[in-house]
Amino acid sequence: MREIIGITLENEMDLVLAHKRSMQIGEQLGLTVATRTTLATAVSEVARTVIDFTNEGRLSIHISGKFPRFAINAGITFESDQVFRETDEGFFYAKKLMPDFNFDANGQIYSITMSLSLPRSSKVDETKISLLQEYFKSAAPLNSYEEIKNKNSKLSQLTQAQEQEIKLGRELDEKKNEFISVASHELKTPITVIKAYTQMLKLLKGQYSDKVGEVVEKLEIQTGKLARLTFQLMDVSKIENGSLQYDLAEIKLNSFLKETVLMLMNVHANNKISLQLGEECSVMADPLRLEQVLSNLIGNAAKYSDRNSHIGVTAFLSEEGSSVTIQISDSGMGMSKDNIARIFEKFYRAEDIVSSHPGLGMGLYITSKIVSDHGGKIWVESEIGTGSKFYFTLPLALAVDL
Ligand code: ADP
Repeated sequence: MREIIGITLENEMDLVLAHKRSMQIGEQLGLTVATRTTLATAVSEVARTVIDFTNEGRLSIHISGKFPRFAINAGITFESDQVFRETDEGFFYAKKLMPDFNFDANGQIYSITMSLSLPRSSKVDETKISLLQEYFKSAAPLNSYEEIKNKNSKLSQLTQAQEQEIKLGRELDEKKNEFISVASHELKTPITVIKAYTQMLKLLKGQYSDKVGEVVEKLEIQTGKLARLTFQLMDVSKIENGSLQYDLAEIKLNSFLKETVLMLMNVHANNKISLQLGEECSVMADPLRLEQVLSNLIGNAAKYSDRNSHIGVTAFLSEEGSSVTIQISDSGMGMSKDNIARIFEKFYRAEDIVSSHPGLGMGLYITSKIVSDHGGKIWVESEIGTGSKFYFTLPLALAVDL
């Protein structure tokens, strides 16, 4: 069955469309005026009855059959909780006009099909059917009502397609999150075991050669990297399902910064890290998560700048005295405006560093979530070739509201 035209039957105006289009199709198929009028009248009779009781009917005029025997069919389907019979007024007249009349009721869904065999003189074949479909698809609207109706229909098709796409996107995202969650949990156990064995091997130092000692060192570094990535993956999945939790404690910021930055100086021994403290203050924060924020930002500063370059960590109280700002500055490669706008997105990595610097684009996403969950803000000022300054704020203790 190849549909030539479909019309939803909602109101009286659709009756006009159904009648005119039936006549036009008859004309295009070379039916006599009498036959076209019979078809159009039968369609109108059924359509009127349907429109009187429901506004959810649909007329489909289509061609069925195979060369050389084709038929034109007018099918009207509708749904109603009212009981309809073949003998009801409109249907009764249509049946008289069109001997090939089929009435079908399936619960509340009704379908009426009326058919006419097409004479050979119609010269119907597959090409003609395609041309007819094309003709009515691109035909000018019969009146302004049809024009608006067509536009509405296109709009609603577009909306449906968009909704479908959004739904699909959401489902894919859920599957991806589930995969990340399962994969990171599965990775955690073997990594913990490897770490434990590496520690055991380190304790046996002296019982193996220096060469083996070097391998053990490398093993420890790489396992540490693997563990960090796995924990990042677990954090991303926790953020996605809303289960990232915090153990809040009052933290004296200056001593905390001294201790953490000292530890990070050892990790990033290839850079010169300096710390400039402001007035002593306290924040309510999860110490491990705050350490993670500093470690991510200082780690990035080291990763995206040259060996031996300077990294500055500065803390200062806001003017109104309700929050503290921590700045991490580097004189590294910097970022374009486009990158600045996207670096806090999940899995985002600047194109120009993808092949030159390792990473998965999770660090800043997690960092920004931790900062915002603590009631703070994070932003960056950066210029290509000059370096970057990352800032984050934390409300002072008492002012925090988690
Ligand atoms: P990753 O470092 O694993 O790529 P992040 O989420 O930590 O992931 O960072 C996202 C992106 O932000 C990086 O890929 C990089 O392009 C950019 N970026 C982050 N920190 C800096 C920095 N200090 N200097 C230059 N670019 C940076």
